[in-house]
Amino acid sequence: MANKPKIKDLLDESACSHNKTKKAACNAPTPGATTGGCAFEGAQISLFPYADAAHLVHGPITCLGASWETRTTKTSYQGRDHTQMGFTTDISTKDVVFGGEEKLMASIDYIMDNYSPEAIFVYATCVTALIGDDIDAVCRHAASKYELPVVPVHAPGFVGSKNLGSRLGGEAALASLIGTREPESTTPFDINLIGEYNVTGDMWQYSHLLDELGIRVLSTLSGDGRVSAIRTAHRAKLNVIVCAKSLISLTRKMEEKYSIPQVSLSFYGKRATSAGLLAIAEALEDTDLIERTRQLIAREEAKLEAKLRPYRQIFKGKKAVLNTGGNKSWSIASALQDLGRR
Ligand code: SF4
Repeated sequence: MANKPKIKDLLDESACSHNKTKKAACNAPTPGATTGGCAFEGAQISLFPYADAAHLVHGPITCLGASWETRTTKTSYQGRDHTQMGFTTDISTKDVVFGGEEKLMASIDYIMDNYSPEAIFVYATCVTALIGDDIDAVCRHAASKYELPVVPVHAPGFVGSKNLGSRLGGEAALASLIGTREPESTTPFDINLIGEYNVTGDMWQYSHLLDELGIRVLSTLSGDGRVSAIRTAHRAKLNVIVCAKSLISLTRKMEEKYSIPQVSLSFYGKRATSAGLLAIAEALEDTDLIERTRQLIAREEAKLEAKLRPYRQIFKGKKAVLNTGGNKSWSIASALQDLGRR
């Protein structure tokens, strides 16, 4: 059970700014909390964009239905996109009585025989966690049999919210993937994008700017991600947290373990994108990069301003009502302010 993260520690995350102002532990489960998605769903959201991996849900088929491909996360992976398949062990009453470990191993064998993924993520769910299936042992056995990462993800729905599940997804990556492979080469400007899921391809809206500046995305967790890349994430010079809250435990632990500093930012809207690019350049502490970034920002803002001008007229005098979830509200509000809304 060595891979099992301590839920209590994750609920009391020292790096979370909310934690300092709350009486109760951060993200402590509250009645009804899972109506916004259970921990298993959160874990799968944080890892599902790895299209080169198979995502095997060890539980009743309904758990798979609750979370499968809910976010339209895009990938440029040229091989078979395994996220188009919904893999589950489909636990039955008989398995609840006699245990589901054999069925889990048979499912892994089936996936390897038919799909040959780069890795397999095995998600515990309420039922298989309650009956006590030792998925760590099965994953260890499968990893050694097939010589590839088979990652246990301990985020059964009953432990708490979707946000906590995303943290647990990060814990699984840290325990089983990060630091298990060396990159072919490194650069002074290697970064990890953490909490960027490339929903509907939004990462591709700004990744070309990073490319132009010579800032290399060594790995992502997990938008348009590759398992082989996240295994090398320990060699990055900077962790860039794109989703402010859910993976902060991961980046704090990477800072402690691998001395990788972190910045938290957003790429929604003109001001956020400009500030984010500059924050990355400053955190990488290179004067030439900072100067080039300032020039790129000035050029891109001028281009964007010309494109936004007609819309400013359309939006003039209008009020905006946001019907969005979580932290995204602030991001969309920021983009609306760029259009002149207050
Ligand atoms: S893991 Fe538990 S809470 Fe989540 S979908 Fe499955 S049964 Fe429901």
